[in-house]
Amino acid sequence: MTSPSPPPPPSPRPSLPLSPFLAPVEAVGVDVGATKIAAVRVTADGAVLARARCATPRRTADELVGAVAGLVARVRGERVTAVGVGLPGMVDAGTGALAFAPGLEFARAPLGALLADAVGLPVVTDNDANAAAWAEYRVGAGRGHDHLVLVTLGTGLGCGVVVAGRLLHGSHGFAAEASHLIVEPQGPLCECGNRGCWGVAASGAAVARLGRRAAAADPESPLARLIDRGSPDAGAAVTEAARAGDRQALEILGRVGTLTGIGLAALANLFDPAVVIVGGGAVTAGEPLIAPARASFARRLYAPDDRPPVPVLTARFANDAGAVGAALLAVDRSR
Ligand SMILES: [Zn+2]
Repeated sequence: MTSPSPPPPPSPRPSLPLSPFLAPVEAVGVDVGATKIAAVRVTADGAVLARARCATPRRTADELVGAVAGLVARVRGERVTAVGVGLPGMVDAGTGALAFAPGLEFARAPLGALLADAVGLPVVTDNDANAAAWAEYRVGAGRGHDHLVLVTLGTGLGCGVVVAGRLLHGSHGFAAEASHLIVEPQGPLCECGNRGCWGVAASGAAVARLGRRAAAADPESPLARLIDRGSPDAGAAVTEAARAGDRQALEILGRVGTLTGIGLAALANLFDPAVVIVGGGAVTAGEPLIAPARASFARRLYAPDDRPPVPVLTARFANDAGAVGAALLAVDRSR
């Protein structure tokens, strides 16, 4: 009779190859806008270490790739392991290619592959608003919430949705195109052919358009005088006038806020987020826009008394969200 053999001695833990990602990593994030490109170098925690920017070449993919590669070269350092690029349109989640961007003169370009060749590092591409949502999720106003919706109100409108700690991409990468969610059926015509899409009815462009219209209708009003003084941005003039208590300006921001609340409630009813975050340049309008948005949202959220509250927060990041988020996407996907 043999005694049971003793258990084998524990084998030494195999030594893992030293991963470069165990060292403090940095990444470059690039936000390609319709008029300018911004690049940042950030830590894995999203702290910005360097910045550069240039105008957006809109004519060809090669020119755009050259501009992005030039910015990456200006900000990258030795610890940079990956590059993330947010693009202003529909990005194929599988290939990283740009399918379509309304502000660029080309489409269907394999930008992910072209950029990786140009910069010599792994490159992650995604929609710019998805990147901004990732920044807010990882290190911004949505930190700690695995389900969130971000809407950026800029010249246009962008949206990113995080579900269970992952960006919602849909079948192709084209999910969360909230810009064409109709919030005002008799509203202004959108380039997509429909009327009252959120992106034209209630974005920064809408604030500017309504400001110019109000100024034309009442040229002697304080708002008209502010816009006439040569302000290149009628939206900024509306915000400035609202801060001074101008009735017309407050009405414009209230209207845009109310329509924004309609869109936010639709998204919250669809995705059941823990928080809804509003970002982008229009947030500088502050409470005159956000308060009506919150009120409109609360009126339209389904069964508000029978669910936990869904706070409407303002974003941590103003102009950096897309670039910081793109960098963090690159860090997270390279791990
Ligand atoms: Zn549309």
